[in-house]
Amino acid sequence: MAGTPIEERLYDQLIGILGKTNVSDNDLERFVYSGSAGVSMPPRRVIGEYGPGSPPAFIVWPETTRQVVELVRLANKEKIPLVPMGGSVGLRGGSLPLSSNAIVVDIKKMHKILDIHPDAMTITVQAGIVRPEMDEVLAAKGFWFPHDPPSHPVSAIGGFISTAAAGWWLPKYGYMGDLLLALEVVLPTGQVLRTKPVMKHSVGPNLNWLFVGAAGTLGIITEATLKIYPLPEARYTRVYTFDSFHKAYRAAYEINKRDLNPYVMRVGDDGHSKVYLGRALQTPELTSFTLVVGFDGMKEMVELQDRLAREIALRYGGKDWGLELGQRFWDTRLSYWKQRKSTEYSTDVITTAATFDKIESLYMAVRSLYDRLGVHFSIHIPHFTPKGASLYCIFKQPVSPEGLELNRRVWEEGIPLVLQHGGTLEHHHEIGYYLSRYVPSELGTGLEVLRAIKKVLDPNNILNPGKLAL
Ligand SMILES: Cc1cc2nc3c(=O)[nH]c(=O)nc-3n(C[C@H](O)[C@H](O)[C@H](O)COP(=O)(O)OP(=O)(O)OC[C@H]3O[C@@H](n4cnc5c(N)ncnc54)[C@H](O)[C@@H]3O)c2cc1C
Repeated sequence: MAGTPIEERLYDQLIGILGKTNVSDNDLERFVYSGSAGVSMPPRRVIGEYGPGSPPAFIVWPETTRQVVELVRLANKEKIPLVPMGGSVGLRGGSLPLSSNAIVVDIKKMHKILDIHPDAMTITVQAGIVRPEMDEVLAAKGFWFPHDPPSHPVSAIGGFISTAAAGWWLPKYGYMGDLLLALEVVLPTGQVLRTKPVMKHSVGPNLNWLFVGAAGTLGIITEATLKIYPLPEARYTRVYTFDSFHKAYRAAYEINKRDLNPYVMRVGDDGHSKVYLGRALQTPELTSFTLVVGFDGMKEMVELQDRLAREIALRYGGKDWGLELGQRFWDTRLSYWKQRKSTEYSTDVITTAATFDKIESLYMAVRSLYDRLGVHFSIHIPHFTPKGASLYCIFKQPVSPEGLELNRRVWEEGIPLVLQHGGTLEHHHEIGYYLSRYVPSELGTGLEVLRAIKKVLDPNNILNPGKLAL
């Protein structure tokens, strides 16, 4: 509860800006928003790493851009840290408050659809909206928004943008940043930046990209205009099994090289096939190496793409499990990540991306490390794009002090290994707080550039300090 004179003064000002129901200094809520109740960072919390999360002084729920502007101005004047928060499932502590005077800005009450423009094929939303709130309204107009990380029932659009999120249908539809046309952002000084919804301009760098993956350190995103697609006429998906990772990878590589444009293409190792794919599809026989590949769009095109991809998969020794199982993959996509709950072990993940020439050696390097440390759980390639592919390497550790130590060891040995093999420090998730210490080795001079930008935009360092190595 607000206690000191400064807290009481702030409380009154916050209520003046946001109204009484949109400000809390309740102890239970402060505890929950500190991350200690497991709101943030589920994997690390399970193994007992509670990190530096601190109960914030206040939690606020703005509903309008105007309120965000006034809030930011107040924080600037009082030099108080603001921590923007969407669904709080960024996994690396990006929305964790790090000091007891911080204000968490939970953006989820800003969840209106402001405009759907079928002719422009765009939707404009407030940044706190979650995907399911858009689905029905879009479907009624014959459209969908093809961005589907498994956290989409709870993650907000502002969170997706701020973590440069990568959804399942990325091979055809692109990253969150690719689906973004325009932004409204409240800058750390309270100015409002609005970019123009055009596909490209040549008037200096495209400022949208400054906020993609910026972890709420450069501004609070309040609105976004996004690209939407017509609902496809047909969707064909198939699952193939192979007797080696190499063959499954080469088949996918070939399909990608031939430009067949799948909406999904995922290669799984034996662990992935068993603990995720086989279980989700209720097909326990899927224990070898798997390729899931699917196409969507006009029926005639989809039939052709599916036939050509199938020829390639069979040429590499793949066994086709048929369209029915592929349809089950689509139908179960939201329950895919549900594992059997274990009280004995928990999982964590290193994710990376690289050009095609490096993917197989990266897989082998990480797999050898995991096997040596006895932590291998599941490794898969979730995305192929024209420029390269990503790897998602899940490891497990016992829920015990030894497990926590093992977790640290995997990170300490795993990250240098990934960087040495030409992979990026992180592909899927945010850097947040927990991976900040590795940022200098990834960015080099780039980090100085980011720090210079941060200093100019946020001279009082009020927006999410301590994140992204800024
Ligand atoms: C089961 C599971 C599976 C996942 N799979 C994937 C996956 O396949 N691909 C993937 O990319 N991610 C995945 N994630 C991670 C998660 O989906 C993304 O990181 C997501 O973008 C987080 O959104 P959020 O709203 O929860 O953000 P939060 O965790 O609330 O915030 C993340 C960061 O964004 C900042 N932020 C939030 N909102 C704003 C705003 N309006 N303005 C400015 N900054 C803001 C926060 O300060 C923080 O730094 C997964 C997570 C889970 C739990």
